[in-house]
Amino acid sequence: MHEMGIALNILDIVKQIMISHEASKLNSICLAVGRFTAVVPHSLSFCLEIITKNTPFEGFNLEIEQVPLIGRCIDCGNEFAVCEYRFVCTSCGSNSIETVSGRELFIKEIEIERM
Ligand SMILES: [Zn+2]
Repeated sequence: MHEMGIALNILDIVKQIMISHEASKLNSICLAVGRFTAVVPHSLSFCLEIITKNTPFEGFNLEIEQVPLIGRCIDCGNEFAVCEYRFVCTSCGSNSIETVSGRELFIKEIEIERM
């Protein structure tokens, strides 16, 4: 389950932010997860729950925004949602497709509190 490694990374980043802001409580995390990252949101949320259990971070609200997989045809410029990883232009049938979005995985927002 590679979500565990990602969850640990996210928590690390969140800890750093909290330390630099002298925050004592974590209210919420909002993540942007591309559909092309192969991350299962449910697993990621489960992992974050496990690693924060019985820690000062426990009980925060997690929001995961899924970023759709969008491709752009290099030949005709058509942009389209890629279904089932079929990188074929819906307009001209070309195989020269670049990814516009869907590969990202980042922390969009966190909400913290100072005591
Ligand atoms: Zn095309």
